[in-house]
Amino acid sequence: MNALHLKKGFSLRIAGAPERQLHLLDTPRHVGMVPEHIPYVKPRLLVEEGDPVAVGTPLFEDKRNTRIRFLSPGGGQVTRIDFGPRRIIRHIMITLDKHEPCETFDVPPVEQLDEMPRQALVETLLAGGMWPFFKALPFMDLADPDTVPPAIIVRLGDDEPFGPDPVVYLKDREDRFSLGIDLLNKLCDRVVINLTGDEAAVSSLPDPSVIYRFTGCYPSGNPSVQLYRTRTGPEQNRTWFIDGQDVILLGDFFRTGHYPVQRIMTVGGSLAPAARHVSTRTGVPLRHLCGNGPAGKPAARYIVGGVFTGFAGNPDSFMGFYQNALNLIDDGDREEPFGFIRPGSRKPSYSTAFLSAFHRKPFPMDCGQHGEVRACVNCGTCATICPVDILPQFTMKCLVADEVEEALAHGLLDCAECGLCTYACPSKIQLREVFRSAKARYYKEIA
Ligand code: SF4
Ligand code: SF4
Repeated sequence: MNALHLKKGFSLRIAGAPERQLHLLDTPRHVGMVPEHIPYVKPRLLVEEGDPVAVGTPLFEDKRNTRIRFLSPGGGQVTRIDFGPRRIIRHIMITLDKHEPCETFDVPPVEQLDEMPRQALVETLLAGGMWPFFKALPFMDLADPDTVPPAIIVRLGDDEPFGPDPVVYLKDREDRFSLGIDLLNKLCDRVVINLTGDEAAVSSLPDPSVIYRFTGCYPSGNPSVQLYRTRTGPEQNRTWFIDGQDVILLGDFFRTGHYPVQRIMTVGGSLAPAARHVSTRTGVPLRHLCGNGPAGKPAARYIVGGVFTGFAGNPDSFMGFYQNALNLIDDGDREEPFGFIRPGSRKPSYSTAFLSAFHRKPFPMDCGQHGEVRACVNCGTCATICPVDILPQFTMKCLVADEVEEALAHGLLDCAECGLCTYACPSKIQLREVFRSAKARYYKEIA
């Protein structure tokens, strides 16, 4: 095992870490998909309201590559499809039948997988809706099924507050994880397991594996940062990655021939009624996941995903395809009288200007901006915190001046979209959004 310690970055000390004990959640009445939050996919609907669906029925496909399809996470009836501006598909809601029908896919017996040609494996993964679990760096778009990647990173653990712990989701599922790794080894010669967090997970990993253990500040669990620290040449820039829990789903799929929908998720944050790990299913409604929410407390923001990179949902929407964490934190959208002279003894911040810098304990966090947007003051905070050394202030200025080539030379494509620069910037500049949209525009140009 190779060990790497990341010094750059920053770990938030916020309250509401989920406890490790796993709680089983009952079956919800509805499940749903949120296509608008699947980046780099142009969805084309394959169902209409009122259509009956089984678990594994295709709901929509990617217009860029119609072989990549997203399957239904439930069996029942499509009861609602919500559209947003320019007819983007917001939600697809499925009301579940008591006895859910389930599609069966043609998969070979596990003992015969060794003889399966790579192309046949790719086609089976595409037909079974498993392909979207593979993403490619540096854009984090869907992997191209017609290429062979230089390597596949398996991301075990995420140090962004607060994702599922690999020790919890690997427990009693080691055999399926191991089968998933065998499948990845058929897709690519180099499979690397990048572990972040507790070393206890190592005992669950298949032997022999190439393992890197990352320690240090957030975002040491981010695959872009991991690649930036370990790559040996530019040919590795299009490395694929997959989440550890999705590797287990690959194993499940080949064991059963059914589209797997069980997931381990977390509910965390200072306003979570019970911060914990839960066993539930893909596309679960947020309200079902966190009960009645934070009654009698300040208004909560429901963040689907990590607190830096997730998206805001409402209790009636659903977990995203890639998100396994729900964080509830104070919306913070209110005036703070005389905020500029308050000592800030309970204010989590990167700045050492507050008394909270002397505390080691976690604080409740809110979503307030705590100040107005100003021009960049060249303080260099973003460059100090950025884990991939791209000098965010200069890259941002290049993009504002439409000097894309110069931004690329600064390392725009290395940006891990971790959100730390936005969090730490005293001028409240949304740097991550600037870089994210610039990468998306450049992707369109070269795609
Ligand atoms: S530029 Fe900002 S979002 Fe990108 S990696 Fe650096 S700190 Fe993270
Ligand atoms: S942290 Fe904000 S104000 Fe400071 S240099 Fe970076 S962009 Fe400019």
